Amino acid sequence: MEANHILARNKSSWIAGIVFLFGLSLLLLTMALTKKGSDASVAPELFYYEQTQQFLELPQVLELSEDKWEKATKRNSGVSKNPYWFKANFKTPNPSLSYLMEINYGLLDHVDIWMIDADTQEIVATYTVGDAQNFEYRPVQYEQFLLPIPENIKRIDIYFKVSTKGPVKMPMRIWLDSDFLEYSGAHKLFIGLFFGYMMAMAVANLFIFATTKNKTAGIYTCYVFCFAMVVATLHGVSFRFFWPDNIWFQERAILFFACLTIALIIQLSVDILELKRTSKRLYLTLNAIKYVCFIMFFASSIFPYEIMIKGVLLMIALSAPFIVVSAVSLAINGSLVAQFFTAAWGVLLLSGLTTTFENLGLYEFPIDGSYLLMVGAITETMLLALALAMSFSSQYKETETARASAIESERQAILAKDDLLRVQEKAKQELEYRVEERTLELEIALRELSEANNELERLSAIDPLTGLMNRRYFDKRYIAEIRRSRRERTPLSVAVLDIDYFKKVNDEFGHLAGDECLKTFAIILQQNIKRPADVICRYGGEEFVALLPNTDLSGAKKLMENIRKATEEHDTKYQSKHLSFTVSIGVTSRVVATEDEQKLLFGFADKLLYQAKQNGRNVVIAEDY
Ligand code: GH3
Ligand code: MG
Ligand code: MG
Repeated sequence: MEANHILARNKSSWIAGIVFLFGLSLLLLTMALTKKGSDASVAPELFYYEQTQQFLELPQVLELSEDKWEKATKRNSGVSKNPYWFKANFKTPNPSLSYLMEINYGLLDHVDIWMIDADTQEIVATYTVGDAQNFEYRPVQYEQFLLPIPENIKRIDIYFKVSTKGPVKMPMRIWLDSDFLEYSGAHKLFIGLFFGYMMAMAVANLFIFATTKNKTAGIYTCYVFCFAMVVATLHGVSFRFFWPDNIWFQERAILFFACLTIALIIQLSVDILELKRTSKRLYLTLNAIKYVCFIMFFASSIFPYEIMIKGVLLMIALSAPFIVVSAVSLAINGSLVAQFFTAAWGVLLLSGLTTTFENLGLYEFPIDGSYLLMVGAITETMLLALALAMSFSSQYKETETARASAIESERQAILAKDDLLRVQEKAKQELEYRVEERTLELEIALRELSEANNELERLSAIDPLTGLMNRRYFDKRYIAEIRRSRRERTPLSVAVLDIDYFKKVNDEFGHLAGDECLKTFAIILQQNIKRPADVICRYGGEEFVALLPNTDLSGAKKLMENIRKATEEHDTKYQSKHLSFTVSIGVTSRVVATEDEQKLLFGFADKLLYQAKQNGRNVVIAEDY
């Protein structure tokens, strides 16, 4: 960044150097031109007389004693309401050649000229010139006043009567026709170069304005145009070419263009130096002057010239220091644009000051004042264009940087958003994973719980002493088997078994011995009842129930007989004592028709058991229900 800055500074210094060299060569050129002009022409001594009384004609002026006349120098030119009389004497080097008298100041309103043969005191020529009359009345159609001197006169007295609202100046020179032709050729070339250059700058910036819509470029265009018009009016060029028969406008043209030029240069300075941002006070002051200039622009068409011109000079005197102060303070602070701007203003002020010095006759420069102003204008316009270009470039860079930073922050925002999305996605995945994990754990827990439940269910259906199914289980299973029998139309056999005289066993050998017998009986039951569908339950105490689905009475009876026999034959050992017992069984069978039969069927089997007990025990009684 810093290196770039230095590089830009170096580059700009180069350009500035070239501009100054260009300005210098222009100065040298004008010096040569001025020298040529003064070498080839003769400027006779001039005397002036201010007419204080109201009416004064040539005869009275001719009668004036010598001591009334004062020697005219550049120093004592001024503004006055009174007419001024000038007189000069010229001795023609070669009377047979043609001579021209030039008054190198085209803004004089009204000049009467009398040329008198000094030898015969005869008036040989009279002229009336000035920009208060149409251009076409001039004896020679030229920007300055050119007056042919009659031929073949050895000595000539020339009298001028000047009435003008502006400054009274009489820069009079006498030329040999051919010399003037040579000189004016070079002079015109210079003038042409000046206006060509100014127009080129104006047009180039107009195009920049048209394409970029940059306000400052537009203002610059107008400024260059108005400034060029001021110079053109000062030189009489615009009167000759643009409004040769509009005296009213010619009288005020300098006011109009000067007002606009000041207003525009103020606006340009404010824009280029960015005063609105850098110094509010200077900005407001200059803006106020600008508006006064605009008002004066319109006032110029109403109020008299001699008042307005003082106003314009006041505006210049006011605005110039403010602009210079702003530019210099910014330039000191290191603004490159301001430095160029200061240089531009420096050149213009220098040339303006020099011109003023010369006009006031304080110092004689080797350069014609009007040229100086043009050289100053060219150099200033060029430096201003440079300052303008640099301000464009810095503005462009600023917007570029702003755009780049905007893009960068947008990129950062996108990145941040991406990051956020990624974090969210990750969190979501983690959550899903956790939920999955938890679900799995829950499923496992549920499965374990259901297994535990099943186990509990199973355990709750088992009789702990014998390991057979218990009464609870029987109640459920019995209903199920009743339904199946009815549905499938298969016989269901129900057997009720009761150990005989079991009370005695308990009484004789103790309850533990009784329990042992019950366990043994359970084993006998399991050994005999083998079909998977068959169910044996401990109904309570020493009573058992067997459910034999799809089994008819004869099959059931046979099975029960086997049990009875096995029990009878079995010999249970308990604490080295032999225990034996028998069993009585009531068994019945039926293909169930309605569910209501369940109680009856069981009751019938129980009744058969009762009969068995009655019949002496250790017996099976089987009967269809
Ligand atoms: P009966 O031949 O008429 O059936 O005679 P019994 O003594 O078997 O008849 P009862 O039904 O009056 O007596 C049942 C006895 O069975 C009472 C009790 O001493 C015994 N008993 C019942 N349940 C158990 C048990 O779980 N363990 C033990 N050790 N004895 C039991
Ligand atoms: Mg019993
Ligand atoms: Mg019993």
